[in-house]
Amino acid sequence: MIYTDYNLKRLNSFALNCRAKTLVEIKSEADLLQLPNLLDKKNIILGKGCNTIFANEYFDGLVVYLQNKGISIIEENTDYVVIEAFAGEDWDDLIEFCCNNNFWGIENLAAIPSSVGAAIVQNIGAYGSEIKDSFLSCLTYNPIENTWKEYNNEECAFGYRYSIFKYPKRFEIIWKIRLRLSLKPNPNTSYYAIKEKIEKEKINISSPSQMKEIVTQIRNSKLPDTKLLPNCGSFFKNPVVSEEDFPKLEKLYPNIPSYPAPNGVKLAAGWLIEQTGWKGKRVGNVGMHSKQALCMVSYGDATAKEILYLAQEITNSIKEKFNIELEKEVHIVL
Ligand SMILES: Cc1cc2nc3c(=O)[nH]c(=O)nc-3n(C[C@H](O)[C@H](O)[C@H](O)COP(=O)(O)OP(=O)(O)OC[C@H]3O[C@@H](n4cnc5c(N)ncnc54)[C@H](O)[C@@H]3O)c2cc1C
Repeated sequence: MIYTDYNLKRLNSFALNCRAKTLVEIKSEADLLQLPNLLDKKNIILGKGCNTIFANEYFDGLVVYLQNKGISIIEENTDYVVIEAFAGEDWDDLIEFCCNNNFWGIENLAAIPSSVGAAIVQNIGAYGSEIKDSFLSCLTYNPIENTWKEYNNEECAFGYRYSIFKYPKRFEIIWKIRLRLSLKPNPNTSYYAIKEKIEKEKINISSPSQMKEIVTQIRNSKLPDTKLLPNCGSFFKNPVVSEEDFPKLEKLYPNIPSYPAPNGVKLAAGWLIEQTGWKGKRVGNVGMHSKQALCMVSYGDATAKEILYLAQEITNSIKEKFNIELEKEVHIVL
């Protein structure tokens, strides 16, 4: 289905008003193969719009809205199962499918608002898990070159909220993905909030559904509901500083939370935001949530201009106080 002058308000979780010159809804491979004839000067891919900010009120190009659905079991043995899911599938429906079948591996990623395709793009992570831990491969389509390509786990170069699809050099659509999930009970209770809850309530985790419930409860108690306070989850990435620079920071701020990271020391962006006085602060129609400093929320009809202004003010404050450059986790569409 092709739409012109399409209002994207209900297709982005900040509920921003933006009209797209053209939107094409892709449900089947036949729809996908029409794309080479529809491409414009600007082309973007859209899943559920939960990590996307439309910077302007008009997008002068083509929005490729992925709605291809389907989940199937490809391979099964006594230890593990390989499942295949199409990119336009709702992430929570995939979680539900896996939990109902007792497939272990992605239950800690429950309740992350996402399409299956976008989950790969930024290697979604939460509560001690990342999708890369279960990811086997994906199949992509490039409508400019009219080519298909398969990527394995290593080729995606996954990192913290990163894969090669995050800042793409080529226009490549993730069409479907494969995950390898365990059939043997494998609860991941490494994250402190999960550990704390199961110890306090004396819970014995025997199914992925149980873990999904625990994660969902913890998330709901902490994160604002996008229906009430539109948002994109974490607005910034947690910054990583070098091993050499960290002791200088720790000397100045002995309570600074820190975590080991492959390329240095990871800091909590939420803590930095709190220290610069932005937690719970509102500027016009936007603000940083009072319970979750890393989450920028809209209190009404926020505009992208207000969102980006506040983001810049926060970035400046943190640069000034800590000499740390914050990087946005959200994707800004110009
Ligand atoms: C309340 C809330 C909580 C959140 N919590 C978390 C969390 O715990 N952990 C976490 O990691 N994230 C979290 N997020 C961020 C968000 O859920 C993820 O980034 C999610 O993957 C976005 O999915 P989407 O389908 O909405 O992506 P979109 O916003 O539609 O797209 C995101 C990016 O992926 C690209 N893209 C989308 N689909 C495809 C495809 N098929 N092929 C190629 N490129 C594609 C888009 O072009 C865009 O660049 C949260 C967001 C919200 C609103």
